[in-house]
Amino acid sequence: MCGIVGYIGEKNAKDIVLNGLKKLEYRGYDSAGMSLWDNKTSDHTLIKVKGRIDALEKRIDIKESPLAIGHTRWATHGKVNQENAHPHTSFSGRFIVVHNGVIDNYKQLKKTYLNDKTFTSETDTEVIAFLIDYFVSESLPADKAILKTLRLLEGSYALLVIDRTQPDLIYAAKHKSPLLMGKSNQGIIIASDMMALLPTADQYVALEDETFVTIHQDAFTIFDLNGTVQPYQMQPIDMDDMSSEKGAFDHFMLKEIHEQPAVIRKILNKYFEKNDVLLDTAMLDTIKKHDRIHILAAGTSMHAGLVAKKLLEQWAGMPTEVHIASEFAYDMPLLNGKPFFIMISQSGETADLRACLMRLKKDHHTVMTVTNVRTSTLAREADMVLTIHAGPEIAVASTKAYTAQIAVLAILSYALSHQSFDLKAELSKIASAMDSLLEKHEDFKPIVESLLNKRHCFYIGRGLDYAVALEAALKLKEISYIQTEGFASGELKHGTIALIEEDTPVIALISQNSTASLTRSNLNEVKSRGAKTLSIVVESLRENGETMLIPDANPSLAPLLMVIPTQLIAYYAALVKGYDIDKPRNLAKSVTVE
Ligand code: GLU
Repeated sequence: MCGIVGYIGEKNAKDIVLNGLKKLEYRGYDSAGMSLWDNKTSDHTLIKVKGRIDALEKRIDIKESPLAIGHTRWATHGKVNQENAHPHTSFSGRFIVVHNGVIDNYKQLKKTYLNDKTFTSETDTEVIAFLIDYFVSESLPADKAILKTLRLLEGSYALLVIDRTQPDLIYAAKHKSPLLMGKSNQGIIIASDMMALLPTADQYVALEDETFVTIHQDAFTIFDLNGTVQPYQMQPIDMDDMSSEKGAFDHFMLKEIHEQPAVIRKILNKYFEKNDVLLDTAMLDTIKKHDRIHILAAGTSMHAGLVAKKLLEQWAGMPTEVHIASEFAYDMPLLNGKPFFIMISQSGETADLRACLMRLKKDHHTVMTVTNVRTSTLAREADMVLTIHAGPEIAVASTKAYTAQIAVLAILSYALSHQSFDLKAELSKIASAMDSLLEKHEDFKPIVESLLNKRHCFYIGRGLDYAVALEAALKLKEISYIQTEGFASGELKHGTIALIEEDTPVIALISQNSTASLTRSNLNEVKSRGAKTLSIVVESLRENGETMLIPDANPSLAPLLMVIPTQLIAYYAALVKGYDIDKPRNLAKSVTVE
């Protein structure tokens, strides 16, 4: 969600910042802006646009610049328009600010310090620029004025600040929103995401909360909010994990759907030595000392959590509950016994989970993060981490992260259990079955064209199929904007069946022997009321007339295959409608505000 990039150094800051912002586009944004030092005028030039970075680029007529800061905004306070786009300027014009995050007490700060000032935007951010100027006008030097401002802010921020009177310096600050410093021998880059650091930097450090940084072209210094210098250690950037090109595919989403078999195989490489699971025994022993697992997650990760719950219960005998992170953070259920917590987050930056983590840490609970980004905030701050090794996921709609999360949590469930079947062989079989399903991906286009021509749609299933139905529905609604519900098929009759009318699309997921006939009866009930139906069925449960067949696998792992056709249905539905598949409206990839 939103992004920041800044650069100071020997290379052309304009290109580095623009390229960095493009790398962050996948996170989602609605407007963009930049401030660049212009050698011709010996001053900063500010450009901002509503819309895409391409439009911003066209408006910049400076060729080269030694210093620039840039921003993509995902509006939280104020409309999506040019005035509200960042950077924002202080009332005297001296300070220029870009900000990711939310300032909760901005109204209070305006009232207390800036009552006589006229603001030009509706954002919470502008108050930061104004406050710095206000404290400078009370005769504080710029760095002290920024520190004083930071100490007053409540909420979250990743910030870059330019002082027009100091052309060789960028200030940065971080609290709750991610910000990374990258270094090469030609300059310093600052960005909210590792993706933007490459290829400019070869080493990086992730800033801690409540830090303030002064950045010159060859060095930077990190302080706490009292101005005390903080030690830090640079880490090398792992180039392998960073490939983010579309290759032969038209969209990142289609590419990532196709990467799933390879991701499963990579996970097997990482988590198995021959047929033995490679998980730290001390970690497993710690988990076993607890008697209830609570999975916390949001969106697609929460749906992966619903599948993991079944595996932890069926295989490891661990009672497991799944919670929506944003609910859990402020409405914590009564916890009894010895609870253990697993947070699932693709990006490792989900603000709702960060709020949960702070709360849990205060109560000294043990927390594991399952994430795709091992350098992320949630990975660093939890007690234990499992990496899902899915590689960068650029499309906003998550696909390979979902299956990778399930595969890794399956391995964990197995390692916690006394099961002795060959999980590695089962998962390899699944990777091959994924390959065969994906070979036929173009078949989904005509299916979608004949099935999905209503404003709404239903996915139904029971048990594990219901868990997949929820994910299938989310995928379809987030990129095709068709209002889709995932329903427990037995629950339809208790109200929702009233929505079924002539040609309402209803898709049933059938992979579990124990509930197959019940789900089929439910599908027949809606068919009798006019619904247009489709069944996605595992081969061994097939009945006459059912044509969308899924290779058989261990039934507990069936979600890894059942989800594939639903991802393709979503992809082709959005393609047929001509929507922006990789960057659906209003959505952001990593949700860094609560
Ligand atoms: N809260 C700020 C705004 O609405 C920053 C949003 C962002 O993180 O992009 O402008």
